[in-house]
Amino acid sequence: MNDQARKTKMIAAFEERFGAAPELWSRAPGRVDLMGSHTDYNMGFVMTMTVDRDTWIAARPRDDGKVAIASLNVAGGGEFDLAHITPAEDAPWTNYVRGVAWALQQAGIQNLVGFDGLVHSTIPFGSGLSSSAALEIATAVMFQLTGDFELDPVEMALLAQKAENDFVGVNCGILDQYSSAMGQAASALLLDCRDLSSHPVPIASGLNVVICDTRAQRNLAGSEYGERRTQCEEGVRLLQAFYPDIRALRDVSLPQFAAHEQALPEVVAKRCRFVIEENQRVLDLAEILPYGDATALSELFAASWAGARDLYEISAPAMEAMMKAMLSAPGVIAARQAGAGFGGCMVALVGDGAIDDFARHVAAVYQADTGIHPSVYAVVAAAGAGVVEA
Ligand code: ADP
Ligand code: MG
Repeated sequence: MNDQARKTKMIAAFEERFGAAPELWSRAPGRVDLMGSHTDYNMGFVMTMTVDRDTWIAARPRDDGKVAIASLNVAGGGEFDLAHITPAEDAPWTNYVRGVAWALQQAGIQNLVGFDGLVHSTIPFGSGLSSSAALEIATAVMFQLTGDFELDPVEMALLAQKAENDFVGVNCGILDQYSSAMGQAASALLLDCRDLSSHPVPIASGLNVVICDTRAQRNLAGSEYGERRTQCEEGVRLLQAFYPDIRALRDVSLPQFAAHEQALPEVVAKRCRFVIEENQRVLDLAEILPYGDATALSELFAASWAGARDLYEISAPAMEAMMKAMLSAPGVIAARQAGAGFGGCMVALVGDGAIDDFARHVAAVYQADTGIHPSVYAVVAAAGAGVVEA
């Protein structure tokens, strides 16, 4: 569906639901990490790329201080009063919208203007491309359009993260919201999760980013994610006995870590080693990505995957099957996990002219192995959140 067809479809649905045409349009993209699994909450680096899959909100301002929100992706919507924002009783997905309104108010923005809003997204849910952050950021942009305030995009990302952490109740890092707000067309972003600075990293021509969605259930993702965070925190606490100044795994070099690795419980040591190595791989990728050295890319991605599987243990049988399918496919240059792991999407770099053959091969091999039909598609780096241009 092209942008015009998408807009036409949303206008028709909006009119049917709200009885008039929408006046304002916001959008926010999903994203994929090219390197940097679980480094964000360790205050480290991530190579992130916004993708040309995004969430749009069409809206009409209201003058009664209320927000009514519906989605073309999920049944059921809701209405809430900006003067008294409560969690949704049904349609829990509306909590992402409520949470952003709440977080904006917490930040001192008291003159929010309500709206009738309709959401439509081309980002798959729960597979690691950050549909939740895109919904939050698109909501924040919409409140900017209806109200009379302007937020710096980094501040917007922090408020969206606060909404997800404290209103929705998901303990996510800053990566997703930051990427959606700050992404750039035609390049990846090297993000420093400590000082929230970033700079664009060009992607060499001849490298195509292909998403390979395992479409496998991610049952354990929530509890395992929390456990990994706790293990990293324990690692920092124990390493502080040797390096009192460290505040996060980001502050520990590999030689420093190796000198005291034995003092940590085995599992904690494995988790910490992965994060410290993965952080370095992000910096290494920043050097390689603009030039596209295939051997170096392949080795770096392979090391990230091996660490995710053996040290951080965020793999799943579906991910193993997907790696096998990706690495045996024509045109593959490099392949690894994406997002938090435990299923969800993986990511490959594929050479020019090979995307269709790559996708066909991956789908056939993965399906033969798992019985699940995967979703395989190329993405390009898209601009961060803003107004729908179409
Ligand atoms: P991810 O962010 O990796 O896609 P999450 O579990 O963090 O996965 O967020 C997915 C949830 O976000 C969905 O289950 C839904 O509640 C909400 N969501 C995202 N996009 C939309 C949308 N377009 N319409 C309704 N709900 C959405
Ligand atoms: Mg999310």
